[in-house]
Amino acid sequence: MANTIVIPSSMLPEDGRFGSGPSKIRIEQVHALDAGAKTLLGTSHRQAPVRQLVASIREGLSDFFHAPEGYEIALGNGGASAFWDMACASLIARRAAFGTYGSFSAKFAKSAASAPFLEAPVRYDGEPGTYRLPEYTEDVDAYCWAHNETSTGVAAPVRRVAGSVEQDAITLIDGTSAAGALPVDVSQTDAYYFSPQKAFGSDGGLWIAVLSPAAIERAASVEHSATLDGARRWVPPFLSLTTAIENSRKDQTLNTPSVATLIMLENQVRWLNDNGGMDWATARCAKSASIIYDWAERSEYARPFVADPDARSHAVVTIDLDDAVSANQVVAVLRDNGIVDTSGYRKLGRNQLRIGVFPSVEPSDVAALTACVDYVVERLAD
Ligand SMILES: *Cc1c(COP(=O)(O)O)cnc(C)c1O
Repeated sequence: MANTIVIPSSMLPEDGRFGSGPSKIRIEQVHALDAGAKTLLGTSHRQAPVRQLVASIREGLSDFFHAPEGYEIALGNGGASAFWDMACASLIARRAAFGTYGSFSAKFAKSAASAPFLEAPVRYDGEPGTYRLPEYTEDVDAYCWAHNETSTGVAAPVRRVAGSVEQDAITLIDGTSAAGALPVDVSQTDAYYFSPQKAFGSDGGLWIAVLSPAAIERAASVEHSATLDGARRWVPPFLSLTTAIENSRKDQTLNTPSVATLIMLENQVRWLNDNGGMDWATARCAKSASIIYDWAERSEYARPFVADPDARSHAVVTIDLDDAVSANQVVAVLRDNGIVDTSGYRKLGRNQLRIGVFPSVEPSDVAALTACVDYVVERLAD
């Protein structure tokens, strides 16, 4: 029976957290909380110690992403989901085009569709397991898609739609599960936004955005100009990107942030940069991902869900299992053995494993995981 399979401890990964977000938090990040126990935790975010922490995060991310001249790092409360609504309120002037190919990319499009002051968005819908980019569209002022569709394990290219700059359209990329794990040229984007509980291995609750001068300008013009019917658009202060930028420039947030999240994020950004920055992080994730894809290609009962090798994510790996092997059972046995959060995205509804291979995850632990899956599957068959 499933719950009697015990994986020998010598086979187990050192750390059993393989979630696609929340994801593994390194012990050094937790120790950083201890180090800040009396100087940072429980102190004002408007005073120098916490503001220095935010400054270090902003500088560190600017380095990590090789932010071009004029680009700024902004942050605020609410996570990437809040940034979608902020983009609807503060960045899309009239109408946006979306590439949607999974749960997360579709959610932003739905937000835009429900905003009464925006025209109906133009959607380019792809099938789960593939990606779809928005195409050049007349009369849109923003193009939006996700760098990594976390629900399916698909990574999409990030480059501006041809003609978009000439029509003054901005490019808004959801980098939530990609940022820190996949290579990106942020000069191809105007907002590259993400939350810290994926590759940056912190807790959730924050959004962070790398913003171009065009995005900063767009927010100011949208927030100060009239809508189609001549009325002024109501931009709630919480959704005002301009206000967020003003606070970020002072190394603050509009309202009180979780200081613990900031401490763990700051530690992770420093760790990534000290090890070699984006090149190092993305090579490490590519290595971990290839361990799983190669194993699945060799396996008799597993195969990569994403058919196009170029679209296979190096951040979130999705593996289909044969019908004869129940992914739910495998996931449950793994969990009983301390290996957690390997289930597929619920709404995708496939017989699938989904494994987060963010920079904090050791490639050797990923190799151990594949051996553990084989061990479990062999014994489930008995
Ligand atoms: C996790 C995720 C989100 C949502 O992030 P929250 O911090 O929960 O708002 C959005 N987009 C993508 C691609 C994600 O992976």
